[in-house]
Amino acid sequence: MHELGILEILLKRPHQKLPQLRAQIGSTEVVMADFSRLPVQCPFIALMPQWDFLNFLAEHARRYSTFHLRTQAEVTGLIEDGGRVVGVRAKTPGGVLEVRAQLVVGADGRNSIIRERSGLQVEDFGAPMDGLWFRLSRKPGESATSLRFDRGKIVVMIDRGDYWQCAFLIPKGGNEATQRRGLERLRASIVEIAPFLQDRVSELQDWSEIKLLSVRVDRLRQWYRPGLLCIGDAAHAMSPIGGVGINLAIQDAIAAANILAQPLREDAVTPDHLAKVQRRRALPTCLTQGFQLIIQKRLIARVLATTERVELPTPLRLMLRSKFLSRIRGRIVGIGFRPEHVKTPISNTGG
Ligand SMILES: Cc1cc2nc3c(=O)[nH]c(=O)nc-3n(C[C@H](O)[C@H](O)[C@H](O)COP(=O)(O)OP(=O)(O)OC[C@H]3O[C@@H](n4cnc5c(N)ncnc54)[C@H](O)[C@@H]3O)c2cc1C
Repeated sequence: MHELGILEILLKRPHQKLPQLRAQIGSTEVVMADFSRLPVQCPFIALMPQWDFLNFLAEHARRYSTFHLRTQAEVTGLIEDGGRVVGVRAKTPGGVLEVRAQLVVGADGRNSIIRERSGLQVEDFGAPMDGLWFRLSRKPGESATSLRFDRGKIVVMIDRGDYWQCAFLIPKGGNEATQRRGLERLRASIVEIAPFLQDRVSELQDWSEIKLLSVRVDRLRQWYRPGLLCIGDAAHAMSPIGGVGINLAIQDAIAAANILAQPLREDAVTPDHLAKVQRRRALPTCLTQGFQLIIQKRLIARVLATTERVELPTPLRLMLRSKFLSRIRGRIVGIGFRPEHVKTPISNTGG
């Protein structure tokens, strides 16, 4: 955002600053990641609802005269010509819309229809959990540890000003069983892991207030076909672990812009250009997903499989308590394995 010249305006939007990511694992409180000393403009995570961030991006993209945003347009298929993707078909309130393009970029997330219709092969790595997503009110000045793991329960809490955005993790595919056990049981489980929510857990009155977020971790073997490139979760669905999926999606977009801007201007994009984007982003993606898979297997799956108090082995506890290692983890989460920088001159002038 700084390199695009829009950081200051972004930070005027309501957000919460998180200089450290703290977790309570059993009886141990640890700093999972410390961002406060990162050599960046903003050594913290800025938390804001995704729709606010997307609206902000759309607003600023409008300064480019060739930018068009079609909302309420659901892509339903690809238009192909002689084995090459030449556009998309979308369902809109006004009927079917066809958009033709030199290049289609599939950035439609982890349930990507573009990926599905492209026939590109997916490697699925699995995830042991899904998330139940709900809100509970927050009292002024209240603070709480963002992540809690104990006795078969894991909860993530994001401070959104007047409410806590909570994700309660359940075993993969366990939503029906959770619902069968009843709302009262879920409320009791939330209080067990976060006792301070006792006085407001009754705000959850109906399952319609609780949204299931399905977690998956997968990756396309090849991210492109002639005329088509997938980026972000459409190319590699990320686990919520570490909160890095958005970073990777944005880094993919920057790499794609840096590599493709010139050939796009010359109307000369070839599969080699698209392969270059994949080559650039494959390593950081594989490493990040590798870390997520280790944490899913070693921590999340183990916590969800037991009702016992989680006690960390001493070496792991020491590692988690080390300030130096918490800064390294902050670097992995905050900057990633291969940070990208905006190189297209057009972005620096805003013209
Ligand atoms: C439970 C959960 C919690 C997470 N928490 C975090 C977190 O805290 N921090 C973090 O960095 N990452 C988090 N992640 C991962 C993160 O959400 C993704 O990695 C990231 O959003 C990927 O960005 P994207 O732009 O590729 O896709 P998305 O953010 O999913 O965006 C895809 C967009 O495409 C649109 N779209 C989808 N289908 C169509 C269609 N057919 N036609 C038109 N438009 C379409 C969608 O409306 C959406 O706007 C979480 C993931 C899960 C499952």
